[in-house]
Amino acid sequence: MIIEINTTDDANQIAAPCRICSRVGLNSILPLGGSAEAQSAAVATSDARWSLDLAWCPSCSLAQITESIPTDILTRESALPASAMAGVVLQAKSVVEQVCEKLELGPESLAIEIASNDGYLLQWYQQAKIPVLGIEAAQDVAWIAESKHGIGSFPDRFGLEFALQLKREGHCADVIHANHVLGHVADLNDVVAGFAALLKPEGMAVVEVPYLKDLLDEANFDTINHDHLCFFSLSSLRQLFGQHGMEIVDVERSTLSTGTMRVFAAKTGAWPVQSSVRDLMDQEATWVRDSAQYLAFSNRIQSLRQELGQLLQTLKSEGKRIAVYGGSAKGNTLLESFGIGSHLKIYDPVQLVEDQPDYCLLLATDGAAEILSEQHRYREMGGRFIIPTPTVRIA
Ligand SMILES: [Zn+2]
Repeated sequence: MIIEINTTDDANQIAAPCRICSRVGLNSILPLGGSAEAQSAAVATSDARWSLDLAWCPSCSLAQITESIPTDILTRESALPASAMAGVVLQAKSVVEQVCEKLELGPESLAIEIASNDGYLLQWYQQAKIPVLGIEAAQDVAWIAESKHGIGSFPDRFGLEFALQLKREGHCADVIHANHVLGHVADLNDVVAGFAALLKPEGMAVVEVPYLKDLLDEANFDTINHDHLCFFSLSSLRQLFGQHGMEIVDVERSTLSTGTMRVFAAKTGAWPVQSSVRDLMDQEATWVRDSAQYLAFSNRIQSLRQELGQLLQTLKSEGKRIAVYGGSAKGNTLLESFGIGSHLKIYDPVQLVEDQPDYCLLLATDGAAEILSEQHRYREMGGRFIIPTPTVRIA
C-alpha cells in the first residue's frame, strides 16, 4: 500500500462542513488514506476501513477528521477503568479541589461528569459531600462507579435533548466535567448546547481536550485515529462555546499528559475572564491560521514515514527479525498510514524475551520510557526498540 501525502495548499480543499462553525471548504493537512477502525483489538486482521483525513478550518481553526464512525465515547459499550491510572485519579482530585473552592460548592450543589467512567473524578466530590451525577454509556465501568463509590450513572448519550430531559427532572449543574470527550464526538455543537442548557447561571463546564499546537510541534500524528476526531486551539473552543452563549474564562495546561488543554467555560458575562485566556490567544495569533504551520507538520510526517520505511527495509534486507510492540489505536494509525502493517507480527509482551526478535517497533510511544524499563531483559539480551515518534530512534 502506497499513500501519497499531498502537501500542496489549495489542491486540498475538503467539502465536508467544519464540526464547529459549519464552514464548507476545509484545508487538508494530512490525508492518511483508509485506516482500519483504530480501536479494533485485532489490529492486523480488521477489514473495516474508514477514510482518515485530517483537515483544518480556516475560519475557526479546528483541526478535525472529516468522517465519523458510527459509535463514539458517548455510546461506547465498554471502557477501561480510569482509576487504574493513579496519575489520572490524583489529577482529578486536584481539579475537583480547585473547582470546589472557586465555585464554593456545598451540599446544595450538583457536579456532573460526562463519560464518568468508574467514578475516578466524581468520588472526590462525593467525599466532599457534594451531590454527583454520572453519565456513562459503558456499563462495565458504570457498574464499578456504582458498586465501589455508590455513584449512579445514566447510560444515555449526552447532548441537548438529554440535557433538557435532566433539567425537566429537576437537575441543574453547578459544574459539568468532560475530560477527553469533545475530542471524540462527531456533533460538538450538540454536546456544548447540552452544557449551556444544564448549567446554572453561574455554573461552569470544565473541559479537557487535545491541544492542536502540541500535535503540530511534536508530530504525534499517531494520535490521529477515528477515536480522536478533533484537535483544538483555544481560538476554536472560544468559537464553539460562543455559539451557545458561553465563553472560556480560564485555561491551563494539564500537568499530567502533554498535549492536553483544560478550559473553564461559563455563561457569557457570568465570570471575569482570566488573563490566561488573553495570553494564550495572543500566542495563538502567531500560528493558528498560518497555513505554513500545517504544511510544516505534514512535511515532517512525510519525512518521518520515509525514514522509518527505509530503516525497516534496511533491517529486513539484513535478515533481521522485526516485531511490533503495542497494538493500540495509535499504533494502528501508524501501521496503516505507513503501509507496513502486513509485514510485521504482533507479539504478546511475554513472548518478546522467549522469541527474542532483533528489533521491536514500539507503537505505544506515550509510555516509551516505561516499556523500555519493563522490557530490560529483552534489551539486555541484545533486543532493540525502534521508537518512531517524534523522531525515529533506536533504543
Ligand atoms: Zn470551523
